Amino acid sequence: MKDTEVSTDELLTRLRRFHSDYFPLHQQRFQDLVAEGQHPKTLFIGCSDSRLVPYLLTGAGPGELFIVRNVGAFIPPYDGSHGLHGTMAAIEFAVLSLHVERIIVCGHSHCGAIRTAYEGAPAEAVALQAWLKLADEALLPVQPSPEALRRTEQRAVVLQLERLMDYPMVRRNVESGQLTLHGWHYVIEDGEIHVFDLQQGNFVPASIASHSGTGPYHPYVEHDGQILDD
Ligand SMILES: [Zn+2]
Repeated sequence: MKDTEVSTDELLTRLRRFHSDYFPLHQQRFQDLVAEGQHPKTLFIGCSDSRLVPYLLTGAGPGELFIVRNVGAFIPPYDGSHGLHGTMAAIEFAVLSLHVERIIVCGHSHCGAIRTAYEGAPAEAVALQAWLKLADEALLPVQPSPEALRRTEQRAVVLQLERLMDYPMVRRNVESGQLTLHGWHYVIEDGEIHVFDLQQGNFVPASIASHSGTGPYHPYVEHDGQILDD
């Protein structure tokens, strides 16, 4: 069968293109990652939005990002439960088994999750309604103007960073200096990440920021009371 005959199936075409064009260029890297196992240093928790492309934004390649995505990039409260929770399990796995060195929580502009948190989800979407409550504390008591939505998106990122600190393994590693938390807000139309700066208490465009984000944490205090920065 000739290639031209095979298919109007665009996905199939793309799978074949990956195998024939992309994979050979990176074959050794993939095979090393199989032989040595994965050792990603970053857990990336991002919104599921199709316009958020973690590999492009971070310049990462195979083996560099351990990714969990959900509607809104939300973190469920840590309750030590044995519930079926994918995001919670991913955080535990990334910190306890992969020993990641940083966790990024990445929200973005024009986030449908945040808008829907204001406007309400369809009645049939019972799981979505419950899930969006994870943004409740970030909502503002105003009409959701574009400015209010953007502020809410950013407040939601910080809220999730605070929730992350309730995970015992996260708190422990942050306090011992083995793990850093990064809050990001991606402005799609500008192509720029704004990083949360704990000192300033706001988001700073990456183009003028002095670091890639600092999340809520309690600095490690030496016995003599001196606070150690990283
Ligand atoms: Zn979103």
